[in-house]
Amino acid sequence: MKTYAEIAEQLRMPFPPGTVKVSNDGKRGHIPVQVYMSRLEEVAESQWHWRIIGDPVFNFEKYFVVVKGEITLVDAIRQGIGIAKITKNETTSIKNALMTAESEAFRDACDKFKMGWYDLAQYRDWSSNPGIMQSNDVPPFTESIVIEGFDPNVHSVMPSEGRSCIKCKKPLSQNEELLLSINGIKFAYCKEHVPQQLVKNRTEI
Ligand SMILES: [Zn+2]
Repeated sequence: MKTYAEIAEQLRMPFPPGTVKVSNDGKRGHIPVQVYMSRLEEVAESQWHWRIIGDPVFNFEKYFVVVKGEITLVDAIRQGIGIAKITKNETTSIKNALMTAESEAFRDACDKFKMGWYDLAQYRDWSSNPGIMQSNDVPPFTESIVIEGFDPNVHSVMPSEGRSCIKCKKPLSQNEELLLSINGIKFAYCKEHVPQQLVKNRTEI
């Protein structure tokens, strides 16, 4: 088992070039949720856990939803908050907004662990503040698995409670949940027991 300090150091390593998605005006950048998730899975393996805190808060007057969640990493907990606009008062739109808010909450919690700070520094006002970054030595980036085909607007980050494979009862990893989510598979299967005919989108897990 790694210590929190070891994990945190590896989580904060820069991502491969091209990871940051930049807005059209070039002023804002963000890191896709699946990149954070892959890094956590790769570095922290079973030593991390994401959960949603309480129920989502809907505001149907102003058309938004707020989701709160937290990442536990060894013995450290960081919370994140995500807000998303509900475009129309219909089920699909509400569901999409809910999943976007959940993804944003997850991203926010990752940010609190300082993940992606090297990569996002040029898009942030505080990057010129020498007190924020501990040093200018940027460690070499490590290759990270990027899960293709994951759209946080469509797919939920992951269920709030850990599930176990319905065949072997093994607890599912976050990536296994992601594989199920991408393929729209409702039942909990581990990667060994997922019926192959249901898997249309193969991802690195
Ligand atoms: Zn299984």
